[in-house]
Amino acid sequence: MTIPVDTRTIARQTLADAAYGVFIDNTFRPAADGRTFEVTNPATGDLLVSIPDAGAADARAAIDSAAAALPAWAALPAQQRADLLRKAAALMVERKEHLATLMTLEQGKPLTEARGEIVYAASFLTWFAGEAERVYGQIIPASVANKRLMVLRQPVGVVALITPWNFPSAMLTRKLGPALAAGCTAVCKPAEQTPLSALELGRVFIDAGFPPGVVNILPCSDPIPFSDVIFADDRVRKVSFTGSTEVGKILIRSSAATVKRISLELGGNAPFIIFDDADLEAAVKGAIASKFRNNGQTCVCANRIYVQRGIYDRFSARFAEEVGKMRVGNGLLPESVLGPLIDMAARLKVERHISDALAHGAKLMLGGSAMPDDANVPGTFWQPTVLTNVRADMLITQEETFGPVAPLIPFETEEEVIAAANDTPFGLAAYFYTRDVSRVMRVAERLEYGIIGANDALPSTAQAPFGGVKQSGLGREGGSVGIDEYLEVKYLSLGI
Ligand code: NAP
Repeated sequence: MTIPVDTRTIARQTLADAAYGVFIDNTFRPAADGRTFEVTNPATGDLLVSIPDAGAADARAAIDSAAAALPAWAALPAQQRADLLRKAAALMVERKEHLATLMTLEQGKPLTEARGEIVYAASFLTWFAGEAERVYGQIIPASVANKRLMVLRQPVGVVALITPWNFPSAMLTRKLGPALAAGCTAVCKPAEQTPLSALELGRVFIDAGFPPGVVNILPCSDPIPFSDVIFADDRVRKVSFTGSTEVGKILIRSSAATVKRISLELGGNAPFIIFDDADLEAAVKGAIASKFRNNGQTCVCANRIYVQRGIYDRFSARFAEEVGKMRVGNGLLPESVLGPLIDMAARLKVERHISDALAHGAKLMLGGSAMPDDANVPGTFWQPTVLTNVRADMLITQEETFGPVAPLIPFETEEEVIAAANDTPFGLAAYFYTRDVSRVMRVAERLEYGIIGANDALPSTAQAPFGGVKQSGLGREGGSVGIDEYLEVKYLSLGI
């Protein structure tokens, strides 16, 4: 596998106007202590750009800016906030090619997926622009004649938003959309690996006409100084985090100091169940879409694929045949369907899960190792892999793999597979394929997950609530409930 030279030319052209900095008060500035860090391309290992590295002083300045902007932003009529959100969404779509290329450069996902993510990310701004106009209060009948009882819904205040690298734009707009719609101002921290997509959104917000201080974005190589400042500051009234369950638990503890509201979108371990009566071709297509999107690096990726005995051999053969056609390569090349893994740590986890499964009796049907290396490739490309005869006691069924590895697990009965699917501390997304309508309701009601795809491998959309139960998180993003996370309920009793 060789990386053609022109992908480096594309990188140079895309970053030609880059003047990224710490984004505070609608300006890009150096970090207060002058430090910088490097953003690299996971497909080539190339340095893309060095950018300012925000520290504690920058976090304080960003909170100052968000707190100063809050009263006017919260007081702006909802329709005006909605108009600005719609303008930002339109600009994102207008700049889709540039934003997508930048995302592929820093994150690695194929351009087609990156373009899709930009449109998906913009859809959260549009959806919540609509919700901004529907933040209704309540009038409650009083039990006495001389009182009027009302419920007001008001913005929470300054919010801190922390996002991961796997969806650098969509995870940010899924938080910013409802926060800004509700009248909150924000201090955002993108992941160390993918700050450029977030900073480009800063430009979008300036060009859409957002007032200074409403959105602040702090790229940084070390999350701790940022985290320490936002959790200690009483002006930050809410933290919304998307990332690992391990870090989510740390943030729950940190939120105690100043009693902050907290929303957590954490890890998953999604079961994908195919019953004997499923449409086989639809199930193969769905399992591939769910397992291999973003090279297996999504929180809702199928992590355990359960196939009923009667269809197991036929499904495995068709699935492996289709997976074998997937092309691995630099995401900028049109033929690439799978890009690189984000870094070497991700590759090591994939290797560990495969070797543990094979040592405990799983069979390798396809792939199983890194792509043949050459001088241009940093070792982050992995062959799409299919394992059969996988069992519940293997690491690959217990942990989120976050890579292009599909473990196929046989099962006999509906009862057995529901128990196996629920046998995890996680509860984000689950999928199943069947043509039996009664079974759809039976299984959907018994799966302990926040999101269920029945004959649908890609259920995520801005209009629907997204989030998990158990150790997969707290709260929901998207849908009509998504804005509630950014609103306080205030009770007003008026004596007359
Ligand atoms: P991560 O290590 O938890 O990092 C996520 C974000 O948190 C990054 O911005 C990271 O900054 C920051 N962070 C790390 N430690 C922190 C701390 N002590 N205080 C404050 N911030 C801290 O997760 P990841 O590896 O980037 O992302 C993959 C995980 O996210 C997977 O488990 C996946 O399932 C989950 N995820 C969940 C959803 C969902 O909606 N439920 C969506 C996407 C991903 P640095 O980058 O600087 O370390």
